[in-house]
Amino acid sequence: MFLPEIKSEIGEDISILIKLDNYSYNFICECGDASKLTVKECQNTEAIFLSHTHIDHFINFDFILRHQLGIGRRVIICGPEGITQQVQSKIKGYQWNLIEEKSIVYEIKEIKADGQILRSEINPPEWEIIPLENNAAAALFQHERFQVDFTILDHKTASIAYLFKEKDRVKIDMTKSQFKGGSWIKDLKTAFENKDDLAPIKVGEKEYQAKDLFHLIAIKKGASLGVIMDHAANESNHEKIKALFTNCDKVFIESFYKAEDQEFAKANFHSYSTASANIMKACKVEIAIPVHFSRKYKEEEIAVLLEEFKAGLK
Ligand SMILES: [Zn+2]
Ligand SMILES: [Zn+2]
Repeated sequence: MFLPEIKSEIGEDISILIKLDNYSYNFICECGDASKLTVKECQNTEAIFLSHTHIDHFINFDFILRHQLGIGRRVIICGPEGITQQVQSKIKGYQWNLIEEKSIVYEIKEIKADGQILRSEINPPEWEIIPLENNAAAALFQHERFQVDFTILDHKTASIAYLFKEKDRVKIDMTKSQFKGGSWIKDLKTAFENKDDLAPIKVGEKEYQAKDLFHLIAIKKGASLGVIMDHAANESNHEKIKALFTNCDKVFIESFYKAEDQEFAKANFHSYSTASANIMKACKVEIAIPVHFSRKYKEEEIAVLLEEFKAGLK
């Protein structure tokens, strides 16, 4: 189960932290200046996902880097074309003569305009870009419990929207059986996952063929979580959003402007309250959460924007 938290106050730049139940590491989406992001959360981060590198989405990378030095682990950074160079440029702005060599490794996954992923790593103290082998067939990010897919939206620059998709879980519906628990549960799940119909499953003293017990299997559908940042509210972006986020459980979506300011939205390749709500409705997203509002708005105006979004979902 994904447990996302918005780490920025209203009026701050956007940053979303994604935790998993019963898992001690976490994932950061967007490096906006977020006062609620703690040192511990930076240290426990396994991967960072950036939609694009406008300053409001990238400024806090330095704070995260500051606290990740010394963790002695690999941290993945995913982002659009140019991200490898931009991460390196940020880091090279500091002096590193006292840094320990294995203090951290950043593995950067740069999403090219055609969707290909270019992998490389940078390490202290030189922080040179070392190309890594690419695996064209692999998902952008693969975790034992979920994977991350993406689509490239147009924000007058590439803006990557991310979909976190938890794997479906195989469970045993004990209410359907008279058996007691035991090691057969694990054996049956393994047989099911391996499509091994004939695997012998020993329950108590009796042995069954796996297929004769498959009726006890129940599939628990994995959760899905979307993060859609800056994008123009146009048809081609909306088609891409529909293709990836339809029936998603929860989505955070940029709603930078109020409906009456949609001319600004158009000029700046942003979205606005009703357009973001309408596309979420078209995608049948269960919970849609508007985020990332223009800093020119006062509290009352943001309240109006949120009302417009709510109305647009109906
Ligand atoms: Zn932007
Ligand atoms: Zn932005």
